[in-house]
Amino acid sequence: MTDPIDRSRLKPRFWERKRLGEMSAREWEALCDGCGKCCLNKLEDEESGEVALTRVACRLFDDSTCRCAQYEIRHQFVPECIVLKPSNIDQHAYWMPETCAYRLLWEGKPLFDWHPLISGTPESVHAAGVSVRGATVPEFEVDEDDWEDHIIEEPT
Ligand code: SF4
Ligand code: SF4
Repeated sequence: MTDPIDRSRLKPRFWERKRLGEMSAREWEALCDGCGKCCLNKLEDEESGEVALTRVACRLFDDSTCRCAQYEIRHQFVPECIVLKPSNIDQHAYWMPETCAYRLLWEGKPLFDWHPLISGTPESVHAAGVSVRGATVPEFEVDEDDWEDHIIEEPT
């Protein structure tokens, strides 16, 4: 499958040379590995703050491509979908997937070798077993009260 994110003509290993806030818009977008895990609904325990991941995907998530079906106009349908930026990652990193490139870099960790920026192909994310392609259920099929029956461990 072709990569929906344009990762061409980026400086080699730019993510090791620049801070998150110094990246261009294209570099920032290229950090997304397409794992799809941030598009899964989470359950947050109000008292402990613990976050549990479910396999119940956002209504716009396409399970077969592992992508948002309407990324450019998604806020018309899902106004609460977060636009992650260097300025708000401090607020969101705690619930983001452990392997998410934004979280890894924010934590000062390296990217994994299966990241498309390193492997050269978005397929490596699925081959490594860290994506949720083919593993989700759509949220219109599961009542919100039943989401806890669909809690999963993050594939890492
Ligand atoms: S969890 Fe991170 S890397 Fe994975 S799809 Fe979401 S933003 Fe991209
Ligand atoms: S609107 Fe799109 S990008 Fe946002 S959570 Fe839903 S599927 Fe993911």
